[in-house]
Amino acid sequence: MGAPESGPVDCLIVGGGIAGLTAARELSRLGHSVMIAEMADHLGGHVAHYYNLFPIQTLAVDVVKPLVDEVTRSPQVRTLLRSEVIGAAGRFGEFSITTRDPSGQHTHHAKTLILATGFEIYDMANHVFEYNYSKHPNILTGSELERIALGEHGRGGGGPQGTVTRPSDGRVPESVSFVLCVGSRDETNNVWCCEVGCKVAINQALHVKEVLGPDVTVTVCLIDIRAHGRLSEEMYRRCRDKGVTFLRGRPSSIDLLDEHFLSLKVFDQVTQKLLEVRADLVVLEPTLVPRSGTVLLSEQLRIPVGADGFFETQDYFAPVTTATDGLYVAGCTSGTRDIPATMSHAGLAAVNVAARLRGH
Ligand SMILES: Cc1cc2nc3c(=O)[nH]c(=O)nc-3n(C[C@H](O)[C@H](O)[C@H](O)COP(=O)(O)OP(=O)(O)OC[C@H]3O[C@@H](n4cnc5c(N)ncnc54)[C@H](O)[C@@H]3O)c2cc1C
Ligand code: SF4
Repeated sequence: MGAPESGPVDCLIVGGGIAGLTAARELSRLGHSVMIAEMADHLGGHVAHYYNLFPIQTLAVDVVKPLVDEVTRSPQVRTLLRSEVIGAAGRFGEFSITTRDPSGQHTHHAKTLILATGFEIYDMANHVFEYNYSKHPNILTGSELERIALGEHGRGGGGPQGTVTRPSDGRVPESVSFVLCVGSRDETNNVWCCEVGCKVAINQALHVKEVLGPDVTVTVCLIDIRAHGRLSEEMYRRCRDKGVTFLRGRPSSIDLLDEHFLSLKVFDQVTQKLLEVRADLVVLEPTLVPRSGTVLLSEQLRIPVGADGFFETQDYFAPVTTATDGLYVAGCTSGTRDIPATMSHAGLAAVNVAARLRGH
């Protein structure tokens, strides 16, 4: 079952991550016909590839699966997978969208449109050279560490769920270092704060200590910790209680020692000393950036992007409406957010769509 194949659906949602799924769920509960166009072969976006979630280490699957199940079971919602939105035009009542899937290009019509295209991880291989990312198997991103813990292969060891291994030989690491603010809060890269990197690193450091035991050395290199939000301070406290060391200093370089080990040079601002930290697993927490297709969609739909490249809303205090009537944003497409904030934002987008369809 699904929304009607012909005629405009009430709402077409671009992207089936947490934002798109939440908006679809709320709209279908309100009785509206919805179509989701998702370019990947699965729903859930980035979160479908995480192991557990801050602040209380909930398994990601326990958040994603109920959402996906409700949306895919709803007779109100039609889901298109492997369908990248490559063009969009129109305004309230008459949007048209072009998708590309393995069988070719297709046009779909909708009365309203929600952009829920999310974010991408900053391309460090081409922008952050001092950390030698992609030159050593044991230098990973936080997203890659999640995939290792999930048992997905990629650059990771692919062990059983929950375990953390070093990619160079699939063995358990002896010492793990996290580096915060990679490519963010820095005028040579991006000036903005990624919003989630500190909490991701604290959660991952805690997980490493919990699964590998007290003998593993865990260090977090930071400018400062931005772990706001309910239960986050408590998570930070638990992490320190487990023996994780927080060093106030961003490494100037990460040098390759041998096939397993790396060396981080960090000027510790508390002791005013240059330290060398050895690690056989380094996890970088890079900033989050807009999807590469954002500029094209912004031109086609006549909505601006901000200095950070994310979609701009009509007003800072009107966080889901845009300059085009009937067009809304949800989730990280208009700035990075954690999952609860993404869900609240997407719920607001759904309410705005429903109100507009009723003539408001
Ligand atoms: C390493 C890491 C760990 C994190 N851990 C946590 C955590 O523990 N707790 C927490 O609260 N938050 C966490 N976050 C934040 C979380 O990832 C975001 O809140 C969430 O992913 C936002 O969902 P979204 O739907 O806005 O974006 P996304 O997850 O990016 O989903 C967007 C979807 O849109 C699709 N899409 C994009 N463009 C198109 C197009 N043109 N056509 C069709 N489809 C398209 C994409 O394929 C994707 O499926 C973490 C972030 C990172 C980087
Ligand atoms: S959330 Fe933390 S890691 Fe991300 S840019 Fe802000 S301070 Fe740095």
